[in-house]
Order: sequence, then structure tokens, then C-alpha cells
Amino acid sequence: MSATLSSYEAIVGSAVIRQLRQLGEKLAGTRIVHVNSTREGGGVAEILEWMTPLMTELGLKASWEVIHGSGRFFEITKSIHNGLQGYPVSISGKDWKIYEDVNARNFERLRPILEEADIVFIHDPQPAHLLRLCEHRKGKWIWRAHIDISHPHHPVWKSLRPVVEGYDASIFSMPEFARSLRHPQFLVPPSIDPLSEKNRDLESAEVEAVRAEFGLDPSRPLLVQISRFDRFKDPVGVVAAYRMVRKVAPVQLVLAGGAATDDPEGKEILDDVLEAAGNDPDIHVLLLPHDSHKTVNALQRLATIILQKSTREGFGLTVTEGMWKGKPVIGGDVGGIRLQVVNHHTGFLVNTPEGAAHRIRYLLHHRDSIDRMGTTAREFVRENFLLTRHIREYLTLMLVTLRPTQGNVIEV
Ligand code: UDP
Repeated sequence: MSATLSSYEAIVGSAVIRQLRQLGEKLAGTRIVHVNSTREGGGVAEILEWMTPLMTELGLKASWEVIHGSGRFFEITKSIHNGLQGYPVSISGKDWKIYEDVNARNFERLRPILEEADIVFIHDPQPAHLLRLCEHRKGKWIWRAHIDISHPHHPVWKSLRPVVEGYDASIFSMPEFARSLRHPQFLVPPSIDPLSEKNRDLESAEVEAVRAEFGLDPSRPLLVQISRFDRFKDPVGVVAAYRMVRKVAPVQLVLAGGAATDDPEGKEILDDVLEAAGNDPDIHVLLLPHDSHKTVNALQRLATIILQKSTREGFGLTVTEGMWKGKPVIGGDVGGIRLQVVNHHTGFLVNTPEGAAHRIRYLLHHRDSIDRMGTTAREFVRENFLLTRHIREYLTLMLVTLRPTQGNVIEV
């Protein structure tokens, strides 16, 4: 059950909520549909879960649809995803045909709602082909890219680009990700919901219960990385960094992840992690069920330092979640993490396991920095990465997209 808009006032102030209501009034009755490829697992699902009810509360007719596909479809879309993030993948003509066929089957199921919508947000590449199938659309279609496609593997982008260019606009998380496209592009970083089960304040008994459940030692520092087991999250690099620190400090490591239903690669990467972890009792590799929001929340609160050592990242929600809990974050110096972590102020940006180990050791020797960075991190999130800012930007771009321009002036 999601929170109502007024319950965010205590966190962001009443002026922010008032502004959202004013924007909502201008869009009252607008039919918007979000489409992605999983209802569970990963940051996109996390966002759509809170965004849909709040947009409804603001007076829009908002819905969230999910495309369904075979295991083969998700293997192909994972390759497309990896290729867009620059990994040299090979996708055959037959694979692209499967991709299109699955989109076509989903289109038949979603046809009425897609044809009638005033605005359709298509999230990421998996459902992107739906646009080409919707010949009788009434509304505007916007492609929302959540990943870093600044340096894609060329053949994959060559195939997807004409599909994306059919959209009326696209949204990227930061300027570096935007491609040269023949339509308006908006920059909207993602955000977290401070009142969700993942981020709400917890009683200390709730936090301690999770510590006990996983046998974590309260007297020793804890490093935590929460992530799908994905090569770009570099969990094996995290184990390497931990081992370097372990030589000089008695740290513990939690690597917690679960699988997203649209991510078939997790098992392979998990096996690599388990092999790297060996039988070290201070490395806790946790395979969490999808609804473990409170457990993730508690683990982030138990952490001394949060890690997100990604080698590619559109925008790591886990980074912002950790910062909201007042923790310094050591993150990969890539993609959206550069926007999220203010280097040397709210944490550190690193490029290698050695770099991560160096920064962990530094923080463990300067405990006052941990507290100071954590406090700064929480305020930085309050200012920049909470859902209220995110909704305001979505509502504004909807107004811009739906309203005709008058000369150079867009009436918002
Ligand atoms: N997450 C979770 N359980 C897990 C792993 C991840 O609940 O075992 C959540 C995590 O807290 C975050 C989201 O899934 O809210 C992952 O989003 P992020 O942007 O960090 O990465 P993505 O998976 O979208 O690449």
C-alpha cells in the first residue's frame, strides 16, 4: 500500500506538494500508460510501483503494464541491454524476429489501452518495438532509457535506433547518455520513495532482527552491496576489494541480490561470486526473495559503508537508497553514479578493486568522515533524488509534450 502525497510533506515541505497538485490539475484526466518488462526486480519496477498510484492521486488516469515473454525473449533482450551498454554481443536476424514477435503478441493484448492513451512511456529496449505496431495511436509516445547507452556496441544501436527515432521524445538519466536523435530529449534522473518499505525509517528492533537473521557481528564493520547478480555490478570485484581490506581490518561483507524476471544471466554471475567467496564465513552472499524490501532497508542501515562498484550504471537506485540511510557510498566512477555520489563529500568514486579497497581503508580509519559524509549524503538525496522531484519533472515534460508551442514559448 503506497503513501498518499500529503504524507511526504514532512520530508520535502508543503510548497513542493502544492506545486505537484497544481501541475496535476493541468493534466487531470490525462491517460498515461507505462510499459516495462518486469513487475519485480530492478530499479524500473521499483519506481513504477510508487509512481503509478501517486500520478493517479494527482488526477491522471495512470496505469502500468508489463510485457510477457519466453525465456529466449529475455535472453535476447538481456543481450540487447548488454550491447547498448557497450558489451560486444551478437544478435542474429532470427533473434530480432523473436524480439519483434513477442512485442507483437503483447501488443495484441495491450492494444486498446495503448491506442487510447494520451501518453505512453516505454521503458528500456524490451518493449520498444510496440510503437511500430501501434498504427492507430492517439497519443504521444516517449522512450525512457534507464541505462547508459553512451557507448553502445554499434550493431545493436544500429538496429534499435530506427525504432527509437519513431518516438515523439526520449528521456535519459543524464546528458552523457543522450544520443543524437531527431526528436526532443529530456533529462530526468530517477529517484527513490522515502516512505516505501525499502526506505522508511525502521525501529532498531527491526534492524537488529535482520542482523541476527544473517549472523552479522555487531562489533565489526560491515560492507554492503545490494545488487542483482549482473556482470556490470562487478560483485566479483567487490569480493576482491574486501579481501584486500580484510588483510588489515576485520570487516564483513554482504552481497545481497535477487533475480529480476527479465534477467536470465543472474545464475552464471552468482556462481562466479560463490567461487570467488570460497568458504570465507565473513562473506555473506544472500539470495533474497523479491519482496525483501524491509530486509534490504535493514541491511543498508546495518552497513558501515555501502558499495556499488558497478562498471556500467544508468543510475543505481541502491546508491541513493544507501545515501538516504546516512551512509557514505563507494561507487564505480561510471554513468549515473557520478551524478549520485559527490566525490569526497558523500563518498568516493573508484575505478578498480584496489581503489575501492583504498577508500574503504581510509574511511575505516576516519570514522568521523563516515558520519559527516553520511549526513551530507542524506541531505543531497533530499534535495535531488526523492520522488517528488521526479514526478514534477515527468508532469512538466508531459505538459510540454502535449501542449502546442506558441512561437518559441511553451505554455506550462
Ligand atoms: N534490490 C532488491 N533486492 C535485491 C537486489 C536489488 O530489492 O536483492 C533492489 C534495490 O534495492 C534497488 C533495485 O532493486 O531498489 C535495483 O535498482 P538499481 O537501479 O540499483 O539497479 P538495476 O537492478 O535497476 O540495474
